[in-house]
Amino acid sequence: MARTVDVSLLRKIKQHGACETLDVSACFNCGNCTAVCPLAQDSTGFPRRMIRMAQVGMEPELLSSEDLWRCYACGECTETCPREADPAEFMAAARSYAIARYDFTGLARLAGSSTWGSLLVFALFSVLFSLLLINKENPGAQLPVFDFLPGWWIHAIGVVLFSIVGLSAVCGLGSMFFRFWIERRREGVNLRWSAFPGAVVSAITEAILHRRFRECDSEGNPTPHSTEPIYRQIWFIHATVMGGFLAMLLATSLDFLLKPIGSPATPLYPMRLLGAIGGIVCLYGLSLVLLRRLKAKDVPWRKSSFADWFFPVLLAATVLTGLVTEIVVYLPMNTVGHDIFFVHVVLAMDLVALFPLSKFAHAFYRTLALVLFSWRHAPAAQSVVADAQL
Ligand code: SF4
Ligand code: SF4
Repeated sequence: MARTVDVSLLRKIKQHGACETLDVSACFNCGNCTAVCPLAQDSTGFPRRMIRMAQVGMEPELLSSEDLWRCYACGECTETCPREADPAEFMAAARSYAIARYDFTGLARLAGSSTWGSLLVFALFSVLFSLLLINKENPGAQLPVFDFLPGWWIHAIGVVLFSIVGLSAVCGLGSMFFRFWIERRREGVNLRWSAFPGAVVSAITEAILHRRFRECDSEGNPTPHSTEPIYRQIWFIHATVMGGFLAMLLATSLDFLLKPIGSPATPLYPMRLLGAIGGIVCLYGLSLVLLRRLKAKDVPWRKSSFADWFFPVLLAATVLTGLVTEIVVYLPMNTVGHDIFFVHVVLAMDLVALFPLSKFAHAFYRTLALVLFSWRHAPAAQSVVADAQL
C-alpha cells in the first residue's frame, strides 16, 4: 500500500528537543544503540528503528509505536553512539512531539515546542483561574481562609476542570490507541480481545513495580546489581514523586467526598495527614531530580529542555504552598496567609490543566503503551507479515 511520508518530520521533532544541537540526522544506522538498549531484547531494532522512522518521515508508524513510551530515558544509547546523535534525547523529543499530535486542542504543540509557548499557556491558565477565583466572598465561612476563597467555589471550578482534563486525556489516549490499532492491522498482527484483560494486569503490575527502572542506578544506567543506596536510585526517586503526587490527589479527592466543604479539621485528620506525608515524599523526589539537572553531570540529566525544568518546579511550588497553607489554616488569617492560599489554588489548577498537555502526560500514555505492548506480544498475537525492515 502506498504511504505518505512527511519530509519535515525530523525537523518538527527536533523543535521538541532539549537542545538545539540535537542532531539525530547524524545517525548512520550502525546499531550500537540497539546493542546496548535494555529494551532491545524484546523489541525489533529499538531505538535505531525509531530514529530511522523519523529520518524517512514515517509519522504514522512512529506515533503508533508503543516502544516510544517504553523507553526509560536511561541514556545508555547516547553514551555509546559514535556519531553523538543523542538517541536518548531524540526519544524524549519524539515523546513530546507525540503528546502534541495526540492532543486535539493545539495547546500541547504550543507548550511543547518552545519556551515562550510553554510560558504563554501557563500564563493563560493562571490568569483564567485567578479571574475565576478573585472577588468571591463567603461571609459565613467556618475557617478564616475560606472567607477569602470559598471552598464551594474552588470545588465547583475543580469539578469542571477535572471533567475537561479527563475528556482531553481520554481523547489523547483514544488517538494513540486508534493509531496503534490501524497500524497493527496493516502489519497483519492478530490482536485478540480475549488477551486484553491479561495485558492490562501485566501493564499495571509493571507500572507499579517498575521492574526495569529498578535495574538502573542513580545515573540511570542499567545495572542489575546497583551499589547505590536505594534512596538515590532512579526508580526510587521516580516512585517518590509519583507516589507522593498520588497520595496528595487521593487525600484531596477523599476530602472533597467525605468532609463538608470548608469545615475545620485537626492536623491529625487522616486526609490532612495523608496529604502532608504525600507532599513531603514528593518534595524529596523533586529536590533530587532538580539537583541532578542542576549538576548536569550524567546523560539523562545533562541536557534539559524548558519542560524538564518547568514541571518539577511547578509541582514543587504547588506542594510547598500547599504545605504552608496547611499550617496557615490554623493561624489567625492575615494577608500573607490569604496570598499563599490563593497562589496554591491557582498553581494546583494550573497543574491539573497542564497535565494532558505536558511531560506529565507520559504517566498515562506510558501505561497505555505497556498495555499495548503486552497485548501485541500475547502468545497468539502473531504477526503474519514481518515488520518492515527499516
Ligand atoms: S543513534 Fe548512534 S548508535 Fe544508534 S544507530 Fe544511530 S549512529 Fe548508531
Ligand atoms: S534511553 Fe535507555 S531505554 Fe531509552 S532507547 Fe536509550 S538505551 Fe533504550
